[in-house]
Amino acid sequence: MKLRRVLVVSVISVGLVPGLVCASAEREAATGKQPAKRPNILFIMSDDHASAAIGAYGSWLKGVVKTPNLDRLARQGMRFTSTLVTNSICTPSRAAILTGQYSHGKNNGVYTLADPINPKAIHLGHLFQQAGYLTALVGKWHLISDPQGFDYWNILPGQGRYIDPQLRPMGKKPKELTTYKGKYSEDVITDLCLDWMKNRDKSKPFLLFCHYKAPHRPWDPAPRFVDLYKDVTIPEPPTLLDNYKGRAKVIAECKNVIGEHMVKTDLGVDIPKDKSREELRKWAYQVYMKRYLSCIAAVDENVGRLLDFLDKEGLADETIVIYTSDQGFFLGEHGFYDKRLMYEPCLTTPLLIRYPGRVPGGKTNNDMVLNIDHAPTLLEFAGIANPGGMHGKSYKTILEGSTPKNWRKSAYYRYYMHLDGSHNIPACYGVRTDRYTLIHYYGKGLKMKGAKDIDHEPEWELFDRQKDPEQIRNAFSDPSYAGVIRDLRAELERLRKELQDPL
Ligand code: CA
Repeated sequence: MKLRRVLVVSVISVGLVPGLVCASAEREAATGKQPAKRPNILFIMSDDHASAAIGAYGSWLKGVVKTPNLDRLARQGMRFTSTLVTNSICTPSRAAILTGQYSHGKNNGVYTLADPINPKAIHLGHLFQQAGYLTALVGKWHLISDPQGFDYWNILPGQGRYIDPQLRPMGKKPKELTTYKGKYSEDVITDLCLDWMKNRDKSKPFLLFCHYKAPHRPWDPAPRFVDLYKDVTIPEPPTLLDNYKGRAKVIAECKNVIGEHMVKTDLGVDIPKDKSREELRKWAYQVYMKRYLSCIAAVDENVGRLLDFLDKEGLADETIVIYTSDQGFFLGEHGFYDKRLMYEPCLTTPLLIRYPGRVPGGKTNNDMVLNIDHAPTLLEFAGIANPGGMHGKSYKTILEGSTPKNWRKSAYYRYYMHLDGSHNIPACYGVRTDRYTLIHYYGKGLKMKGAKDIDHEPEWELFDRQKDPEQIRNAFSDPSYAGVIRDLRAELERLRKELQDPL
């Protein structure tokens, strides 16, 4: 038994990583060629930031939402409009980004909020570290087991808190937290990132994950931004008062409705009991959005600090800057907040990438890019061999201005936390193309703490987003879509088999 364990470990630590990651450098050494300068990578990820809440994305909030620094990144780099997550919930999405795999991947295995990432799972941190990069992660980790594959880490415990944040530096036990009294989480995370970059070994390129806490629930803004939207009426999305008619029954039973399914800490005030369902939704929308957007103001300001630092240090031209979120979020569409469903507001996530001289500035790209594509893309930019086993594909050529002919036309999605105790969202899987979204609520799933111990009748939803961009008309029973449904079901089955996702 002991011998077997030793053998397994040696395969992981010797066989898989070093032999593969140094291939490109070895090849260049053999030809006598100097290896090209490898880029630094600054990967900035916020938590639950919907694209609609970034000025550059031009949603119904355009002109209201203030994100000058993210808009600057969009102007200087490429803005992606169809970036999807493979499982729209924090912990699984973070594991997908690091491993380049769906939740069911061999190095991943993070299906729900309760699953720790396997400490031996090979991910971007290990691969870059083994290739001679400095690797660091600061801020939200949320993958339960301690981070591995980083030269430095300093993380929030679980979700962490906005005000007087506490972080746990590498080498300390879970309860040995450093408290930053009187400070705000995004400011502290940025300070730590800046300190690390200033004091790093400058002979090596770096990969730094700067993971913000904001704008995750319960939306406590920094004191300096509390009144930022005080005198503004936030425009409403067209589906704020959605009545869910014609849709899957489980959708009307979701407990993520603004106002109705919120608590005092979400809104910072008591929730009135004398309003009709519609009145409550409209009232709570204003309070919720002002808090949410004010949290984003701190993210935006701190992104500006990071960009200014790169400029000042002369690092901007040799650093790939990525801004994304672990998923999108409902900002009142369908009357909802939160994520998890396979609907556009939370299935899609912002993606802005700047790499001066290599990625054309001010461009918008509509290709379907997945969160699992970041890992292979970054490996390719850094000249590190892909160890294989990733479901994602590199989109480097897309960033350089040309979409490969065989680029994906459809994407598979799966959410596992069936009727979870907090929001009662059903497990589902489905396929999305540039025009359609086909979703199957399969009636079972992984039960979470506090979840109902019942299955429901399986249901389907089909949205023709070209004719129905707001996703309010379920066309699954419309006979004129019979052919479309047959093709989409075949595509869904093909993807499921290709990805070897067991049901
Ligand atoms: Ca999240």
